[in-house]
This record gives sequence, C-alpha cells and structure tokens, in this order.
Amino acid sequence: MAFNYLKLLVFFGVYVRKVSNCLNVRQLVVSPFMKNLEEKILAQLRCGTCFLLPEVCLCSLIPNLNLSTKVSLIIHKLEMNRSSNTGRLALKALPNSAMIIRGLKNDTPDLSQLFDDEYETLLLYPSDDSIELTEDFVKGIKKKIQLIVPDGNWGQARKVHTRHKELANIKRVMIQRKGIDRQYLRKPHAENGMSTLQAIAYALGMIEGEAVQDQLLKLYNEKLTRTLRHYRRGQK
Ligand SMILES: [Zn+2]
Repeated sequence: MAFNYLKLLVFFGVYVRKVSNCLNVRQLVVSPFMKNLEEKILAQLRCGTCFLLPEVCLCSLIPNLNLSTKVSLIIHKLEMNRSSNTGRLALKALPNSAMIIRGLKNDTPDLSQLFDDEYETLLLYPSDDSIELTEDFVKGIKKKIQLIVPDGNWGQARKVHTRHKELANIKRVMIQRKGIDRQYLRKPHAENGMSTLQAIAYALGMIEGEAVQDQLLKLYNEKLTRTLRHYRRGQK
C-alpha cells in the first residue's frame, strides 16, 4: 500500500517535470523542489544493497564467492546509502568479508581489530609507496590474504590511509589500471581511481584467479547498465 503511494508520487513528479519543461518554468521554480522530492522518494524505494529500484534490483544476480581471501571494507557513514555505492554489492558477493563504519560521531573505529595472524593483511590503496599487486607478488605470500579496502570517494579513502595510524605498517598495494574500463558510476577523484567493486574485482583476480574477477566485473557492469538506463530515462 505504502509502496503504491510512493510510486504514485514518483509518477506525479515525472508528470510535473514534463509539464514544467513544456512551460519553460522548470529552471525557475519547479525543478529544485521536484528534484528534491523525487530524490527523497527514490531513496525510500531503492534496494538497500544494490541501490536500484525494485523493478531493476539485481540482487538475485549477485554471485556467492566463498574465497579464502578476506575482504574488509572500511566504509564512511555518508557512503552507506549512496546510490553509486558498489562496496556493499561486493560484501554481499563475498561471504568471507567484513564491514567497518567510519565517520560516526565520537566513535573512531580501531582498525587493529582486523588484524589476524591467520592472514597477511594488505591495504588496497594507490599511494607513492604502494606495491603493484601482481601474480608474482601474491606467490611470495605464504598465508591467506586479507585485503582492507577503503570504500567511498578519494577524500574519504585518503583519510583511512593517513589517519589510522594502526595501519601505518600494513603494506599498501595497488592495481595497475592498464586497459581497465573507464566508465564510472561516479567521477573518480584521482587519476587511478575506479569504483570499489572494480578495484576488488581486479585485486581478487590477481589473488584468486580470473573467474572470480570476471564474475565481479559482470556484476559491476550490470549495476552500471541498470543505473545508466534509469538515469537516461529520467532525463527524457
Ligand atoms: Zn537489490
């Protein structure tokens, strides 16, 4: 019932937007108000994992990849509900994963809780001292690997890299982005930026093999396609 009511509001919003376009008053009055209203309604309707609307939700396509490599995602609270977020899709696909939330008031997480002797822990972050993650590098590691991955924009990722002193001695690794698809859900803030799900896919491709990489990239491409299709439809 509530869902139908919200859908009705969305259709009403689209109708008003089209009429206002015809009357040429959209930029003056209607646009800011309707955009705000539409965004609030859409945020309520979106799936909490893939952030797509129910009719295009892709959660049934998320693979279940039970890997020995652990992925620990450090996510900023502002990133938790962004529709462009892909980190939460990665968590859903990877049972051996964990999420730690940053940016909560008066609650700075102690990331040393992630350290576990069972794993060789690596921070996935491109910095001057980062080592390129290659098959040879991975062969030199005798333990299982834990990848710590900062999720969010580059400002937020940089804060994980610089502010959490407990990570000071953790090896930084990066992905060489030669030939990597440059289409994004959001504009990266650094030259070698890519979405969180892409970064995890390429890193796990080196550690766990191409089949894992391919499944995660397929998921990313599906998210990208469905998001862009919805966005373009909204522009008409
Ligand atoms: Zn979903």
